[in-house]
Amino acid sequence: MAKQMKVRFAPSPTGPFHIGGARSALFNWLVARHAGGSFLVRIEDTDLSRSSRESEENIKESMRWLGLDWDEGIDVGGPNGPYRQTERLEIYQREVQRLISEGKAYYCYCSQEELEQERQEQLKEGRTPVYGGHCRHLTEEQIARYKEEGRKPVVRLRVPEGETIAFDDMVRGHVEFQSSGVGDFIIMKSDGIPVYNFAVVVDDSLMGVTHVIRAEEHLSNTPRQIAIYHALGYEVPQFGHISLILGADHKKMSKRHGATSVTAYKDMGYLPEAVVNYLALLGWAPKGEQEIFSREELIRAFSMDRVSSNDAVFDIEKLNWINFQYMKKLSPEELLDFVLPFLEKAGYVQQPLTEEKKDWLRQVVWYVRDRISYGAQAPEQVRMFFEDVPPFEDPEVVDILKQDTSAVILKAFIEALEALPDFTEEAVTAAFKAVMKSTGIKGKAAFEPARIALTGVTKGPGMYEMIALFGREKTLALLRKALAFCKG
Ligand code: GLU
Repeated sequence: MAKQMKVRFAPSPTGPFHIGGARSALFNWLVARHAGGSFLVRIEDTDLSRSSRESEENIKESMRWLGLDWDEGIDVGGPNGPYRQTERLEIYQREVQRLISEGKAYYCYCSQEELEQERQEQLKEGRTPVYGGHCRHLTEEQIARYKEEGRKPVVRLRVPEGETIAFDDMVRGHVEFQSSGVGDFIIMKSDGIPVYNFAVVVDDSLMGVTHVIRAEEHLSNTPRQIAIYHALGYEVPQFGHISLILGADHKKMSKRHGATSVTAYKDMGYLPEAVVNYLALLGWAPKGEQEIFSREELIRAFSMDRVSSNDAVFDIEKLNWINFQYMKKLSPEELLDFVLPFLEKAGYVQQPLTEEKKDWLRQVVWYVRDRISYGAQAPEQVRMFFEDVPPFEDPEVVDILKQDTSAVILKAFIEALEALPDFTEEAVTAAFKAVMKSTGIKGKAAFEPARIALTGVTKGPGMYEMIALFGREKTLALLRKALAFCKG
C-alpha cells in the first residue's frame, strides 16, 4: 500500500506571521485536503536568538484565524512528537552519533580563523570556497591534541565527491546540483544544536512527511538536505518550491510595500475567507476565469501542477476587490458586527449599545456598504453621521451656496420637512420632489446645495436614505445652518 500523503508547514518563529508564510501553509493545507492526506505543523526554533514564543503564538493564532487546521503537530499532538525542534535535541544527537559511528559524519576542530584563512586562499585562486576536508581523517593523537587545546568540535557530513544531486521539483521540474560545490558542511554546531538543514531532514523523515512544499528560498538548501537523507538512509520526499511574493515594484515583498503580517490584515478588517481566496491565487492559476472560490471549491480545484514557477506579485487592489466580494455576502447583522470595532476605535460608538441604537447603526452601515472594501474604511464612510459638517470654505462649495437658487431650495425644503408627519425615506423623497416642482429648481441646482448642507461635499451615496437615517432634528439643523450661510 502506498504511504499516506503527509505534508507539513514548518515555520521558524522569528517574527509575526508573514503573508508569504501563510501562502506556504495554505498550499500545503490545500494539497493535503485535496488528496485526503495529512497536514502537520512543526515549530523550527533552533535559532535561539531569533525565536520567540510570542511569534509562535502569533503564527498558530493566525493559522487558526485563516481556518488552516492541522492534523498532527504542535498543540494537537500526534505519534511523532515533540513538534518543537528545541525539544528534539536528543533525537538529533542520536542521529548525529549514528552517522559518526557509520563514518558518514565526523568531528571538525578547525577554528574560525583557520577556516577563514582557507576561504581566502581559495578565493585568491578563483575557486568557490568549500571546506577542504582538513578534519576528515584525523588521527587519535591529533584529536587528543585539539581536545587539550580546549577546541570544541562541530560535526560535518562527509559529502561524497563528484556526485550529481538531482531531483524533480513539483514546481520547477528537473533540478541538478554538483556535490563538489557543496563540500563537507556542518550539521551540528559545537553547542550541540543542529543546523536547520539537518534538523529539517531528521524531522521530515521521522515524521513521515512525503511532500515538502515550501518557499523558493530553500531551493539552494535542497542538495544539502538530499545528501543528509542519503547518509541517514531515509527516503527522499518529493519537493515543491513555490516562488517568492514580490511587491508591485517586483522587489521581494517587505514592509516598504505595506503590511506583510497576517495579523495586520486581520486588524485592518479583511475577512479570513477573502485572504485565503486571495493567497490561493498568488502563484496558483485555476482553470477558467473564476476568481472567487469558496474553501470547498479551492480544495477541489487546487493542484500543484498549476502552481507557477514565476514570481507572484502582491496586488492590494485585487485583495481589496476580493474582500469586497466577501463583505457583500454578509447580512446586515454580520456586517455591523464586523465593522463595529472600527467604529468604536474611531470614537463613533460606545458600548453598551441600546437595541434602538444598534438597529440604527445596522442601517447606517448597510447604507454605505458599497463603499467599504475592508473594515478600516468604515469610519471614513459613516463620518457624516457622527461628525459636524466642516465649515463652508472650499471655493467651489461657497460658490454653490451663494447661487440665488440655493437659498430658495433650502428654505422650501426646510418648510416641507417641518411639515412631515413621518420622517421616512419615502416621505422625504416625496417632499424633495414636491419642492423641486414648486420652485422649478431641478438637478444639480437642487441637489448640490442640499448635499453640501448635510455633508459638506457635493457627492455621496443616496441622499434620501441618508436624511431618513439622520432624522428630523439633525437634518433640519444642518439645512438651517447652510441657509444662514447662503444669506449671510
Ligand atoms: N523553518 C523554515 C522557514 O521558516 C522552513 C523550512 C522548510 O520548510 O523546510 O523558513
